[in-house]
Amino acid sequence: MKPRHVAVRALFCLMLLTVLTSGCATLTKHAAAPDDASDTKTITAVAPPEAYLAIVEDVGRVLAYVYTAPPSQIPAIWPVEASGRYISDCFKPSGRSRQQHKGVDIIVPRGTPVCASAGGRVSFAGLGRGYGHMVKIDHLNGYETWYAHLDFTLVTAGDILSSGDQIGCAGHSGNATTDHLHYEIHKNGQPVNPEAFLKQ
Ligand SMILES: [Zn+2]
Repeated sequence: MKPRHVAVRALFCLMLLTVLTSGCATLTKHAAAPDDASDTKTITAVAPPEAYLAIVEDVGRVLAYVYTAPPSQIPAIWPVEASGRYISDCFKPSGRSRQQHKGVDIIVPRGTPVCASAGGRVSFAGLGRGYGHMVKIDHLNGYETWYAHLDFTLVTAGDILSSGDQIGCAGHSGNATTDHLHYEIHKNGQPVNPEAFLKQ
């Protein structure tokens, strides 16, 4: 094996060991030439226990650290606290227009903590048309979860989350008349019925 390859492998193992032992890694990303120190960004992120780091490297030099996740990282827990786990509107055509309701509505009082149903990365946090304050989490394995009509959000795009991390509080922002969480699960870009994932 060439000495350069040995060095790359050693660097990879060292980074992986750091993440596994501390659970928290300080990531340094070179945005430009390595000798241009002014363009070096430092990102601190807590690695979700079920995620691992893939390191993109080029000719022995680390260019970026990319979070990926195993396929088993599916949205498996309820996105709200135990109280008020009541689904009022299901994944089916509803209303006068018989339009498909793309998620489920979980009745909870305003202010109820809303949590990530699996680890992942926040792909969107802000106002969505009709959805009000909302958060989307990319679980990096084809699954994405949406949390809508929030009173407010506590995360921003790019945040790395573990399963159960609070992302905001329930409310009735957007097109909602009562306090509830509108919860969607998308698989490969298509909404699927969340009830199959809410069996706990
Ligand atoms: Zn809804």
